Amino acid sequence: MSPTSSPCYCGGDSYALCCQPIHSGSRYADNPEQLMRARYSACCRQDIDFLLATTHLSTQALYHANELQQWLDDIEWLSLRIISSSMSSAKLGHVDFVAFYHSNNPTTDNTPPVIRQHREYSRFQLEDTEQSSQWYFVSGEDRPDTPLERNQPCPCRSGKKYKKCCL
Ligand SMILES: [Zn+2]
Ligand SMILES: [Zn+2]
Repeated sequence: MSPTSSPCYCGGDSYALCCQPIHSGSRYADNPEQLMRARYSACCRQDIDFLLATTHLSTQALYHANELQQWLDDIEWLSLRIISSSMSSAKLGHVDFVAFYHSNNPTTDNTPPVIRQHREYSRFQLEDTEQSSQWYFVSGEDRPDTPLERNQPCPCRSGKKYKKCCL
Protein backbone atom coordinates (compact mmCIF):
# COMPACT_ATOMS: atom_id res chain seq x y z
CA MET A 1 0.00 0.00 0.00
CA SER A 2 1.27 3.46 -0.77
CA PRO A 3 1.33 5.91 2.11
CA THR A 4 -1.44 7.95 0.50
CA SER A 5 -3.89 5.07 0.50
CA SER A 6 -3.03 3.73 3.95
CA PRO A 7 -5.93 3.84 6.39
CA CYS A 8 -5.53 6.35 9.16
CA TYR A 9 -4.39 5.16 12.59
CA CYS A 10 -7.49 6.78 14.14
CA GLY A 11 -9.84 4.69 11.99
CA GLY A 12 -10.31 7.24 9.19
CA ASP A 13 -10.23 6.06 5.58
CA SER A 14 -6.90 7.54 4.58
CA TYR A 15 -4.05 8.94 6.65
CA ALA A 16 -3.22 11.41 3.87
CA LEU A 17 -6.70 12.92 4.05
CA CYS A 18 -7.31 12.47 7.79
CA CYS A 19 -4.61 13.12 10.39
CA GLN A 20 -1.55 13.73 8.20
CA PRO A 21 -2.42 17.34 7.19
CA ILE A 22 -2.92 18.14 10.87
CA HIS A 23 0.39 16.47 11.84
CA SER A 24 2.28 18.32 9.13
CA GLY A 25 0.76 21.66 10.14
CA SER A 26 -0.86 22.29 6.77
CA ARG A 27 -4.14 22.74 8.61
CA TYR A 28 -5.49 22.85 12.16
CA ALA A 29 -8.06 20.51 13.64
CA ASP A 30 -11.59 21.88 13.17
CA ASN A 31 -12.89 20.66 16.51
CA PRO A 32 -11.88 18.78 19.69
CA GLU A 33 -12.67 15.34 18.28
CA GLN A 34 -10.46 15.93 15.23
CA LEU A 35 -7.60 17.01 17.47
CA MET A 36 -8.21 14.00 19.70
CA ARG A 37 -7.96 11.71 16.67
CA ALA A 38 -4.79 13.44 15.49
CA ARG A 39 -3.24 13.11 18.95
CA TYR A 40 -4.08 9.39 19.03
CA SER A 41 -2.51 8.96 15.58
CA ALA A 42 0.52 10.90 16.81
CA CYS A 43 0.83 8.40 19.68
CA CYS A 44 0.83 5.56 17.13
CA ARG A 45 3.60 7.33 15.22
CA GLN A 46 5.46 8.30 18.41
CA ASP A 47 5.24 11.92 17.28
CA ILE A 48 5.96 13.47 20.66
CA ASP A 49 6.57 16.94 19.23
CA PHE A 50 2.99 17.01 17.98
CA LEU A 51 1.63 15.88 21.35
CA LEU A 52 3.49 18.64 23.16
CA ALA A 53 2.73 21.29 20.53
CA THR A 54 -1.00 20.61 20.83
CA THR A 55 -1.01 20.71 24.64
CA HIS A 56 -2.34 23.96 26.09
CA LEU A 57 0.30 26.32 27.54
CA SER A 58 -1.37 26.19 30.95
CA THR A 59 -0.64 22.45 31.34
CA GLN A 60 2.27 21.87 28.95
CA ALA A 61 4.83 21.92 31.79
CA LEU A 62 3.20 18.77 33.23
CA TYR A 63 4.27 16.71 30.22
CA HIS A 64 7.86 15.73 29.50
CA ALA A 65 9.15 14.36 26.23
CA ASN A 66 11.24 11.60 27.83
CA GLU A 67 8.34 10.37 29.98
CA LEU A 68 6.00 10.37 26.99
CA GLN A 69 8.58 8.41 25.02
CA GLN A 70 8.91 5.81 27.78
CA TRP A 71 5.14 5.46 28.01
CA LEU A 72 4.77 5.06 24.24
CA ASP A 73 7.62 2.55 24.05
CA ASP A 74 5.62 0.15 26.23
CA ILE A 75 2.50 0.31 24.10
CA GLU A 76 1.29 -1.13 20.82
CA TRP A 77 -1.81 0.88 19.90
CA LEU A 78 -4.67 -1.11 18.35
CA SER A 79 -7.56 1.26 17.74
CA LEU A 80 -9.45 4.30 18.91
CA ARG A 81 -13.11 4.49 19.85
CA ILE A 82 -14.78 7.86 20.44
CA ILE A 83 -17.56 7.40 22.97
CA SER A 84 -18.85 10.97 22.84
CA SER A 85 -17.76 14.49 22.10
CA SER A 86 -19.48 17.62 23.30
CA MET A 87 -19.07 21.37 23.46
CA SER A 88 -19.78 23.21 26.71
CA SER A 89 -19.13 26.57 25.01
CA ALA A 90 -17.78 27.80 21.67
CA LYS A 91 -14.24 27.55 23.01
CA LEU A 92 -14.45 24.57 25.34
CA GLY A 93 -15.03 20.97 24.32
CA HIS A 94 -14.77 17.47 25.75
CA VAL A 95 -14.07 14.07 24.22
CA ASP A 96 -14.71 10.78 25.98
CA PHE A 97 -12.66 8.06 24.27
CA VAL A 98 -11.03 4.67 24.62
CA ALA A 99 -7.70 3.78 23.08
CA PHE A 100 -7.16 0.02 22.90
CA TYR A 101 -3.64 -1.33 23.17
CA HIS A 102 -1.36 -4.23 23.89
CA SER A 103 1.39 -3.77 26.37
CA ASN A 104 4.82 -4.43 24.86
CA ASN A 105 6.07 -5.72 28.19
CA PRO A 106 6.51 -9.46 27.64
CA THR A 107 4.13 -11.69 29.56
CA THR A 108 5.77 -14.03 32.03
CA ASP A 109 3.95 -17.07 30.63
CA ASN A 110 3.13 -17.74 27.01
CA THR A 111 -0.43 -16.43 27.07
CA PRO A 112 -1.38 -14.09 24.26
CA PRO A 113 -1.51 -10.39 25.19
CA VAL A 114 -4.82 -9.15 26.50
CA ILE A 115 -6.47 -6.05 25.10
CA ARG A 116 -6.07 -3.14 27.47
CA GLN A 117 -7.91 0.15 27.52
CA HIS A 118 -6.90 3.71 28.08
CA ARG A 119 -10.26 5.41 28.68
CA GLU A 120 -10.11 9.12 29.18
CA TYR A 121 -12.35 12.18 29.35
CA SER A 122 -10.29 14.99 27.80
CA ARG A 123 -10.82 18.72 27.89
CA PHE A 124 -9.95 20.93 24.91
CA GLN A 125 -9.80 24.70 24.54
CA LEU A 126 -9.80 26.97 21.52
CA GLU A 127 -7.23 29.77 21.41
CA ASP A 128 -7.48 32.63 18.94
CA THR A 129 -4.60 34.48 17.41
CA GLU A 130 -4.90 37.22 14.82
CA GLN A 131 -4.42 34.72 11.98
CA SER A 132 -6.16 31.61 13.20
CA SER A 133 -7.98 29.67 15.86
CA GLN A 134 -6.40 26.52 17.20
CA TRP A 135 -7.66 23.78 19.51
CA TYR A 136 -5.46 22.53 22.34
CA PHE A 137 -5.63 19.57 24.69
CA VAL A 138 -5.83 20.91 28.26
CA SER A 139 -6.21 17.90 30.56
CA GLY A 140 -7.72 14.48 30.84
CA GLU A 141 -9.22 12.37 33.59
CA ASP A 142 -9.24 8.58 33.62
CA ARG A 143 -12.59 6.83 33.31
CA PRO A 144 -13.49 3.17 33.92
CA ASP A 145 -12.97 0.71 31.07
CA THR A 146 -15.83 0.37 28.62
CA PRO A 147 -17.46 -3.09 28.39
CA LEU A 148 -16.45 -5.10 25.32
CA GLU A 149 -19.29 -6.86 23.50
CA ARG A 150 -18.53 -10.44 22.45
CA ASN A 151 -20.27 -10.01 19.09
CA GLN A 152 -18.78 -6.62 18.22
CA PRO A 153 -15.73 -6.24 15.94
CA CYS A 154 -12.52 -6.89 17.86
CA PRO A 155 -10.70 -3.71 18.94
CA CYS A 156 -7.49 -5.09 17.38
CA ARG A 157 -9.03 -4.35 13.92
CA SER A 158 -8.66 -7.94 12.74
CA GLY A 159 -12.15 -7.79 11.25
CA LYS A 160 -13.24 -10.75 13.39
CA LYS A 161 -15.71 -10.68 16.24
CA TYR A 162 -14.18 -10.06 19.65
CA LYS A 163 -15.26 -13.50 20.96
CA LYS A 164 -13.48 -15.23 18.05
CA CYS A 165 -10.35 -13.12 18.35
CA CYS A 166 -8.73 -11.55 21.39
CA LEU A 167 -11.21 -12.54 24.11
ZN1 LIG B 1 -6.99 10.10 11.43
ZN1 LIG C 1 -8.52 -9.23 18.10
